[in-house]
Amino acid sequence: MINIADPIIGEEEKKAVLEVLESGMLAQGKKVKELESAFADYCGTKYAVALNSGTAAIHAAVFSLGVGPGDEVIVPPFTFVATANPVLMLGAKVVFADVREDDFMLDPSEVEKKITKNTKAIIPVDLYGNVHSVDEIKALANKSNLAVLSDSCQAIGAEFRGRRVGSLSDVSCFSLYATKNIISGEGGMVVTDSEEIAERCRRFRHHGQSEKTKYEYTDLGYNYRMTDLCAAVGVEQMKKIDRLTQKRIENAETFGSELFSVNGLVLPTVGRDVRHVFHQYTLRVTNEFPMSRDELAKFLKENGIDTGIYYPKPLHLYSHFSKLDYKKGDFPVAEKLAGEVLSLPVHPLVTKEDAKKIVKTIYPYV
Ligand SMILES: *Cc1c(COP(=O)(O)O)cnc(C)c1O
Repeated sequence: MINIADPIIGEEEKKAVLEVLESGMLAQGKKVKELESAFADYCGTKYAVALNSGTAAIHAAVFSLGVGPGDEVIVPPFTFVATANPVLMLGAKVVFADVREDDFMLDPSEVEKKITKNTKAIIPVDLYGNVHSVDEIKALANKSNLAVLSDSCQAIGAEFRGRRVGSLSDVSCFSLYATKNIISGEGGMVVTDSEEIAERCRRFRHHGQSEKTKYEYTDLGYNYRMTDLCAAVGVEQMKKIDRLTQKRIENAETFGSELFSVNGLVLPTVGRDVRHVFHQYTLRVTNEFPMSRDELAKFLKENGIDTGIYYPKPLHLYSHFSKLDYKKGDFPVAEKLAGEVLSLPVHPLVTKEDAKKIVKTIYPYV
């Protein structure tokens, strides 16, 4: 089976974890610091704060912007649930704005309609490893004095006009979950140029404890610390990131050059000036294709090819959001995409032969 995701753990990661185990210092320590500094360097930001998941990173980042009850945060409905949940965890309101059909990104013209005097922040998502409409979202935020928090959990290494994701927004969040482009098992990272945001995130992950005085708590906080065991894996993965990303891009190019002519399949578009890092290679299977999306997924599986559907249902239709008065029909693009998307295995362990096999398996059915 060609899996939809496969972690790549080499001897370097094993050795690094063993060193931490033998050091006797397992929790947050110098490996976490090393990973933070590698991340900040890589993204071109002043600060990086490690947390124990991407969700914790988003929670800390939203908190660091001062979002609380009475505030509204604009989020796309077509994303992973962890983009939006932290807003609810802080007692604020999730306001959805629809995405664009052609590139799955938050639609700036929809965002504009949703801004009110209570809006505090916008969370664009760099879904699948693409980059959101940086200039347009930033212009809207500047006009209304809002913060931009990028959910870049799927987009480490992506670039816009030669600048890396992480450096494009007020604050950005990454995930190092076991299936992401680089991994630590579970893990997350907040990057920013703001000292205040970084400081608030560091306190948030450690019970709200003051950085100066032990057992002095200045905020409500959690235990969201990353362990040195996980960070040790992350540090080694950072060293391999360019090679790993390049392989994803090459696989995407193989799919793109072979599948573009297939009637009924819409291939992912890469925006101008964007380096897309293909966390997922996501097709749209439209009505013109001879099989339904689910039939194609089943057929590929029978032929040894695993696929993924990210995501089968837009967020506004889940009960904890629909109770905020959202209903079917509110976000037609997100709803349409949820029925059409299908992700092919694009990760670095997919060989050129695997990629060709995937293409050949799809071809007889066009
Ligand atoms: C993975 C992911 C998250 C959450 O990260 P975890 O590390 O799994 O908590 C949030 N948003 C998006 C878009 C993701 O892909």
